[in-house]
Amino acid sequence: MKILVINTGSSSIKYQLFLMPDKIVLANGVLEKIGEATSRIKHEVFKPQSLKQVIEEHIPDHKTGLQTIVDLLTHPDHGVIEDVSEVDAVGHRVVHGGEDFQAPTLINDDVLDAIKRNSPLAPLHNPANIMGIETARLFFKEAHQVAVFDTAFHQTIPAKAFLYALPHDLYKSHKIRRYGFHGTSHHYVSEQAALYLKRPLSALNLITIHLGNGGSITAIKGGQSIDTSMGMTPLEGLVMGTRSGDIDPAIPYFLCKNIGLSIEEVDSLLNTKSGLKGICDNNDMRDILALREKGDQRAKLAIEMYCYRIKKYIGAYSAVIGRLDAIIFTAGIGENSREIREEVCCELEHIGIRLDSEKSRQRGMGIKELQVDGACTKILLIPTNEELKIALETMTLVG
Ligand code: AMP
Repeated sequence: MKILVINTGSSSIKYQLFLMPDKIVLANGVLEKIGEATSRIKHEVFKPQSLKQVIEEHIPDHKTGLQTIVDLLTHPDHGVIEDVSEVDAVGHRVVHGGEDFQAPTLINDDVLDAIKRNSPLAPLHNPANIMGIETARLFFKEAHQVAVFDTAFHQTIPAKAFLYALPHDLYKSHKIRRYGFHGTSHHYVSEQAALYLKRPLSALNLITIHLGNGGSITAIKGGQSIDTSMGMTPLEGLVMGTRSGDIDPAIPYFLCKNIGLSIEEVDSLLNTKSGLKGICDNNDMRDILALREKGDQRAKLAIEMYCYRIKKYIGAYSAVIGRLDAIIFTAGIGENSREIREEVCCELEHIGIRLDSEKSRQRGMGIKELQVDGACTKILLIPTNEELKIALETMTLVG
């Protein structure tokens, strides 16, 4: 079965074509800067032989973009399929499913309407995801279309954790509540942990720590998400690349009233000018670590704040979970930075977290155990793979 996974942004389309159930990636790529003077496609094929291409041309809209991707996938010389009809299903990443979707869902007109109804909750993401679905339906007419939601895994969070202490009518009438994001990643790494530990996921209590450009942390009890750091939007929680994470909710009011910022400026400040970038003018953790090495005090402070926030959440979540079987580091920073793992884990011995720095230092592929011998809580490094998880969910649904 061939499954195309698509992640559509407002000016980009990321794609990966899988041969399932073998989990073989036949091709992948990303089209960026749709609508700009020069758009760019990075396209890679792996079967029958590897080939990398970068194409720069003007791509005015998503429809032309997907047409270009289809042309590459079916190219007579280096295509990986002969015809679009070979694609059995298209799995779409959809950011916000609100309270309507607890699981991946086969897309029909009603489902599409429900995703549209949830757009006010993710105005930057859902409209782009919808565009991706509508365009894919035009090109892959015979394929099943499946929506896999970032929010779905967190729909098990109980009311005491998903509600904000605001007038209840705001939840009833406007659905203001915690939804959580990165669900596909948290779910994937927790399943991988269960396979690795040879225990049913339903028997595991985990804290999954996704540290990429965006970051979030999830408390998983008996295999289910019971709390997560991102909230109604992906702004809440950890210090991120450019997002502030948790702040006093009175700060936006202060910024408007006393500094004269508009509400749009506050939104942009919190989402794009804060976090690591706000503290040290850089949002790439590799650069920040290198700057700290050279003695840069702001970089040092940014890393301290970044790790301190994660640590606070680990403390909070270990309190609500009870027995803690494992913490899991994943995504760009979680998988690659031993420095960050070390600073997050230090002085957490009292809750059983004891990192072995030597193990954490070793490079290599796949899942790694990083705790010292005999520690009661496992520390796992598990590479995330959201695209594969979407392909697996899609296969399960249509298979
Ligand atoms: P992601 O969003 O998962 O692609 O993660 C992006 C983040 O991972 C960026 O902040 C990168 O600087 C960071 N990252 C990638 N590789 C490393 C590394 N070797 N050490 C530290 N941070 C890294």
